[in-house]
This record gives sequence, C-alpha cells and structure tokens, in this order.
Amino acid sequence: MWPWWRWLLQAGVAAALLATLFLWTTPQQVAAWQPPWLRPRVTPPPLAHPQTPPPWLSLGPEPIGIVSGHWGSNDPGALCPDGTTEAQVNRTIALLVQERLRREGYEVVVLDEFDPRLQGFRGQALVSIHADSCIPREDLTGFKVAIAAALSQSGSSAQLVAANTLKSCLVEAYQQATGLAYHPHTVTRDMTEYHAFSEIDPSTPAVIIEVGFLGQDYDLLVRHPERVAEGIVQGLLCFLEGEEP
Ligand SMILES: [Zn+2]
Repeated sequence: MWPWWRWLLQAGVAAALLATLFLWTTPQQVAAWQPPWLRPRVTPPPLAHPQTPPPWLSLGPEPIGIVSGHWGSNDPGALCPDGTTEAQVNRTIALLVQERLRREGYEVVVLDEFDPRLQGFRGQALVSIHADSCIPREDLTGFKVAIAAALSQSGSSAQLVAANTLKSCLVEAYQQATGLAYHPHTVTRDMTEYHAFSEIDPSTPAVIIEVGFLGQDYDLLVRHPERVAEGIVQGLLCFLEGEEP
C-alpha cells in the first residue's frame, strides 16, 4: 500500500505537466495539429537564376536554350487591355517547351531576357520566344522567325546554314501545329539585331520567333499555349534530329 502522500505527489506532478503542456500550446495549435504523415509536403520555392552558370551546363551534351521573352526584365513587352502581358504568355510557352523536350530526353535551359548565362552560351540551339502587339487590327495575325542579320556578313557558311535550317524547321513545324500564316512584312531590326544573337557563343544556332499577335491571335496564344509549344518543339526536333524541313 502506498501512503496517501505519494498519491498526492503523483497527482501534483501530473497536474504540473499538463499545465505546462497547455501553457506551451494554444487552442489553435491543438486544433491545427495533424499527424506528420498527413501534413502536405512543402515544396521549396524555385531558386532565382544564379549569377554564375551552374556547373551542370558545362557537363554532358550541350543543352537547348529557350529565352522566355521579357521575363525577368522591367519591360513586360506587349500589354493587352485585360492585363495579359507578353512576358507571361512567353513564359507559359517557354516552360511548356522545356517540359515537352525534357520528355524527349533533351536538356533544356529556360533563360530570362537578359540572363547572364546568355553570355557565351553554348548549346545545340537557342530559341527566343516573343509575341507581337495586342493591337486588334485584322491584318495583324501570323508569326515570323528571324536569324541574326550579322550572320550573313560575318558568320561562317556553316553557322549560316545551321541557323537557316533551324529557322526553316521552325517555320514549317509551327505553321503545321498552329495553322497560323507566316507574316514576313513585320520582321523588324528588333528581331534581326536581337541582343542575344551577339551575346551567345557564335557556334550556337539561334533564332527569335514571334509566335503571333496578342490581338488577332489571342485565342491561340493565351488559351492554347500547348499548341504553340508543340509547334516550337516539333521545329526543334526537326532541326536536332536532322530532318529535311
Ligand atoms: Zn517581345
């Protein structure tokens, strides 16, 4: 038999422990508590792009570079009345292209408009994705693809052939996937003298594509970005796998 004071002591200790527990946890905490296996998994936020090239860029086969037009810069590009920005449209397409090509086994790097990794970028190809203005004018519909104007003067013939092949592949595949017409009359110096052309390694075949006009081609660009991405993916696969455009 325990003496009565031992019961009292045990009850006192138990009460003190309970009191401490209640002092440390609020009713909200108690209500919100979930067993660890039921808690949602926390995914870490995406890292901001590093200032120096990540080490994996120099390893293994060369990647494909996709520039997400205007992304990461102060200029959102074309701006529509409903608040849609070209930067956002380009971004959606760029990420879809990356996802599709990765499934095909390619390494794809999505780059900001003025990404420091563009300096001396070496890759199997570089495609910069942009879209045209939101002006609702009937004749402003269609896409276009340009290579660097400087290539015709200063590039080697091999570089010129590579860039032109990439362009032809993209034009054909994009037209087929989207049904958009080619719109050659609005190829500007913004395209042929695009800044990234002179930043990347000259051995990297590069083009800039204007995927359509955000005015007349809004439905395709905003509501069906997967079709836009498919056109770019098929164009790149045509080039990378050496098909005749
Ligand atoms: Zn743009």
